[in-house]
Amino acid sequence: MDRGINELFEGPTISHGIDKYLFPPSSFSEAQIGFMSRQEIREGLHDAMALVKNSEAINLPAMRAILRRFERRLGRATNLDDLLEKVRAHHENSAALITKQPIKQAALSGGGVWYFSVRRRGRETGERARQVTVKLDANYDIMQYLCQCPTFRHNTAKGNYDRISEQASGRTMHGIDVAGFPTFNMMLACYHVAAALTYISRETGQYKLPFKFTNIMTLEAMFMDVFRSAKEAAIDDYLIREGALTGETLKRISDGELTLEVAKHQRNSDQRSHGIISGVRTQREKDGYTFSGFATDFRATPYQTTAVVLTKNDGRSVHVLYDSKLGVDLPLIMLNIPKQMWQDMGRGDSAAELQGNPITADRPFRGFDERTGKEVIAIIARPDSRLITPTEARIYERATRKEAAGLV
Ligand SMILES: [Zn+2]
Repeated sequence: MDRGINELFEGPTISHGIDKYLFPPSSFSEAQIGFMSRQEIREGLHDAMALVKNSEAINLPAMRAILRRFERRLGRATNLDDLLEKVRAHHENSAALITKQPIKQAALSGGGVWYFSVRRRGRETGERARQVTVKLDANYDIMQYLCQCPTFRHNTAKGNYDRISEQASGRTMHGIDVAGFPTFNMMLACYHVAAALTYISRETGQYKLPFKFTNIMTLEAMFMDVFRSAKEAAIDDYLIREGALTGETLKRISDGELTLEVAKHQRNSDQRSHGIISGVRTQREKDGYTFSGFATDFRATPYQTTAVVLTKNDGRSVHVLYDSKLGVDLPLIMLNIPKQMWQDMGRGDSAAELQGNPITADRPFRGFDERTGKEVIAIIARPDSRLITPTEARIYERATRKEAAGLV
């Protein structure tokens, strides 16, 4: 079984205590499709197909595969009708996403609160349009948003994680998920919220969307979704890699106003690893670190993974790496030290470039903390390393001993 964290969504995130507002680019890209006219999509498709044919260099994997499939089977290019058919298959036999504009009603009340009625992408006869509320402050910064769709409610109710049901466990486990992590209230900007924010951005010119997409990127994201049923996290990753974060968003990340975070939804690990991860968390929290959610590491390499992140006020962080892709069986600790702090420690340029699998690096390497947009020096601390705390060493030892004794 593949071990590791199962990513659901990724995007710039605003944290207010245990409330997190996560903006997945996949939602905003789809909202952009919603605002495009049929003619714009037809033209965009035409341009994209020409690009796919004429340039191997452009990263459009889904469109490229679909184009080849259509040409092989039917001897023609993919067209708008094919796309409409796939969209219908995806959204309760409705092509409203392409054929209708998403905003049915919009109203602004005093105090910066917007009320929206956003068209569903599926059929509206069964379930009506979604009601969305968005609250902005005087600087057009987001204070809050709400939607009543299942994507939003599901994530709000479940936090980031699968909680242990209180009835099932027979005791109160408030705010702790199955892996022993504190839960957040995860407010995920669903398609409807993204459509509402896109509308506000276009109407006022004051609120700035966190993303900028080309039509080609948006169409590729849509092909990934409707033709290949890619999960949202994969579409988010594609869009982030293709440069969908605006310069302003990148600046806000490096200024510490936003972080780039991952929402996961289920455990995919064994008891021994749970023990190690939660032991590391408890130990590091005693040392002044705070559990800060999940984030991507080593993006755009074969070792891309999602780590558990603990942060300290001085900028240091501990990333717990746990992914069978990295070729290790145990969760390992990666220490991320801000480059400046490393230099202040008199270590100068002692860090190497990372080559190959980060887990096998036997000395500090230059890294990039995707979550904070900062250059860091990263050190992998193995169970036998001097860099782990004595308690962590005991946690590893205990876990390994239990395993040897056949207890796990
Ligand atoms: Zn929604």
